Amino acid sequence: MPASVSEFAFELELCARLEADDREGIVARQLGGCVAEPGGRVLDAVRIEPGPEFDDRVAIASETIPDVAIAADVGPGRARYWKDVVPDDCHPDRARRAVERACEIGFFEREHRNGREYVRQVTRYPDWYDRIVGIENKPDLGRPGDLEAQLRTDVSLALVDEVILATESYVTRAHLNRIPDAVGVWRVHRDGPIDERDLEIEVVREPRSLPVEEAGVEPLESLPGRTDVAVVPSAEKARARRRLAERAYGKGWRTYGFPDCTACRAATVAGATLPYCEWADRVVDASADCGESCPGYEPVREAADVDVDLEAERDRRTPWTADPAGKRRRQSGLDRFG
Ligand code: SF4
Repeated sequence: MPASVSEFAFELELCARLEADDREGIVARQLGGCVAEPGGRVLDAVRIEPGPEFDDRVAIASETIPDVAIAADVGPGRARYWKDVVPDDCHPDRARRAVERACEIGFFEREHRNGREYVRQVTRYPDWYDRIVGIENKPDLGRPGDLEAQLRTDVSLALVDEVILATESYVTRAHLNRIPDAVGVWRVHRDGPIDERDLEIEVVREPRSLPVEEAGVEPLESLPGRTDVAVVPSAEKARARRRLAERAYGKGWRTYGFPDCTACRAATVAGATLPYCEWADRVVDASADCGESCPGYEPVREAADVDVDLEAERDRRTPWTADPAGKRRRQSGLDRFG
């Protein structure tokens, strides 16, 4: 099987283990980790540690709150004309979409006066997250790809508080010398059959805290003899950290599906349900690996053959809440401006 498949299995199993270990925070995967060039770096997994007002964030909405709405010049007091509150540097279409979304998920409420739409925040945006840990998954260090450049970017930008490399390989001194000193290293031991799998994390090296409150340097493009960089001011980094935390809150790590194939069954690793293929003998990525071109593919007859509610599982196992007080209030029809 291609390396990406095994990396996918490794990543899901590690996320399951992190979630089981840390019942208070948020674990998510595949989130943008750059500022100047969004999409230039994707963090495999992130762990968001809760801040003092975490419960207030949980009560607002289960979804990601658009950053434009958080940055809008309006609080929970007097409602203001929506066009007057969105940031000047925001394209009008994006601003409109953000306002709509903020109303839909219950962060804004609106009222109409003289044919104009006025908005206000339902509640003040809380101080809900603390440290953010980025985890780069590279189960096989023999196939490192861009690993060194990625970790150098993470350290020099310092968008997250800590960066950790997680691998299954034996980690040699030569490996450690090739990656920045600030990066922590975990060797993950995955032992036993899938349903009894024991994931042990051996800490090979502790991470060092990164200067998230200072400006960072983001490498953009490497050309022969030079690397173009962008200096990212601390205020922009703070906003990017908030976006990252919000995306993690709304998205989580259960962003996978189950293939319509009889070889796949729901397996349990560290208490989480994962798509395990008996034919391939591993957790599979349905969107990348499954379908008629797979020699082991046998279509399921009944859609209900795989009946898994991943959202309910996230609700049950983590502080994230699918049906928070804010949503219930909107659905009850008590919203004055709904
Ligand atoms: S299509 Fe079926 S047999 Fe092939 S990898 Fe996916 S679940 Fe396994």
